[in-house]
This record gives sequence, structure tokens and C-alpha cells, in this order.
Amino acid sequence: MDSIRVFAGDCTVSFEGSRDRTQRGRVVVVAKPDRTVLVHDAAGYQPVAWLTRADSLTVESGPGSFGLVARAGDQTLTVESNDVAGRAEYPASDAGVPVGSHPDTGDPLVRTNGAVVALDSGTEYRLPAGATVLDETCGDCGLPLMRVERGASFEVCIDRRCDPLDDRVKDRFDGEWSCPDCGSPLRVIRRSGRLLAGCDAYPECETAFSIPAGVVVDDCDCGLPTFETGRGRRCLDSTCEGR
Ligand SMILES: [Zn+2]
Ligand SMILES: [Zn+2]
Ligand SMILES: [Zn+2]
Repeated sequence: MDSIRVFAGDCTVSFEGSRDRTQRGRVVVVAKPDRTVLVHDAAGYQPVAWLTRADSLTVESGPGSFGLVARAGDQTLTVESNDVAGRAEYPASDAGVPVGSHPDTGDPLVRTNGAVVALDSGTEYRLPAGATVLDETCGDCGLPLMRVERGASFEVCIDRRCDPLDDRVKDRFDGEWSCPDCGSPLRVIRRSGRLLAGCDAYPECETAFSIPAGVVVDDCDCGLPTFETGRGRRCLDSTCEGR
């Protein structure tokens, strides 16, 4: 698991870059796993010095001193301790919206950007694009359910090994539409991580369309289905002008 490192004490803090500045005070320095470094003094929410997602970060932590050097482009943030009050390292995760707890371990679950994460174990359930995590739990494993739109609205377990979204989409739409180029049925397949409606005559016919996040509401003039998505109506064929 990632960790946040914290250093506290009387420090000299130098920033070189857009404007050069040296400050000294009793401060707390926070170094994040993404190499963001924040130097906080006693007042206000804003750090007195910081560098976001530095290209490089070197930390020296001796028995009676510490020092950090963070670099990003032509900017350098240097922290040198004059007197050490303390230092520590803590496990850290992304913060997210609480979505219940793990049914087996009781581990709290949070929804972060693109995943549901178990805070203690660090186990991650990646979510498909546009998924909504629901209050309801899976009848088989007890994890939260998610709603995902891929042609229709599906409610499936966030653990794809428990209740694969692909199988549900396949049950509903496999062979449902025809290839506009050769007339063969379009099969629901996963290729290179994407869920596709691909021609059954592959590899002779290579026609394939990524199935958009939306529900089928109509037929396009071209014969393929029309999807209602978060960004409006579109044909299954993203290059088709019809809708
Ligand atoms: Zn489940
Ligand atoms: Zn075809
Ligand atoms: Zn079309």
C-alpha cells in the first residue's frame, strides 16, 4: 500500500523557480506517494511552500536531521531540518465516497475515481466507465452492486469475477445486430480491454464497434442501433452521421 511521510521540526525551506524564496519556521512537511510535497506552518489552509507531483524527490532521514529535495522542471523545493520534532510514515489510500464494507472482512469500502477500494487490504475493484455504485448488495457475495449501461441498464456485482458484466451484455445483445458490411451477426466480444460488437466473420471481416455507455433507444437509418448516452444520441457506429 502507498504511504504518506510526515516530517516536523524547525526547518529552512527554499523554493527556486518562478520566484526564489527562503523561509524558516516550525513546520510540518507532507510527502505524498505521487511526490507532491507540502510545507505547512501554523496558519491557514495554504502551504507556505509546495511542489505538486515532482519529477523527482529525494529524502534523507538521519538520526538527528532530515532533508528533502523535490524537483519539477526548473523548480526546486528544498527542506533542511535545523531541529527535529518528529517524523512518521503512514499507510495512505485515495479518499472516496463510503459505499459500505466488505462482506467477509468488514474492511470499509470507498468509491474513488474509477474503482471501489477496500481501505485495509487495498483490494481494488475497477469500475467500467460510467458505472454507478448502488446501495443494494450482491445476493451471492454481499459486495455492492453497480449499474452500468451497455445497450441496456444492467445491475451487476462490482466484482466482475462474481457476476461478469460481459456475460449479461452477451445474453442480451449477442447476435442481435447485423454487420453493415457483410450481413453476418455482430457478436459481443472483449478485445484489448474493450467490449465490442464485432463481426462473426472475423478475421475475413474486421468490422467491430465499441459498445458505448448508454441504452438502445431506436434504430439508426443505417440499420444499427441508436444509443442514448450521457453526451446525447449516437449510432453504434461512431463514424455514422445518422442517429
Ligand atoms: Zn457478487
Ligand atoms: Zn462483417
Ligand atoms: Zn448509423
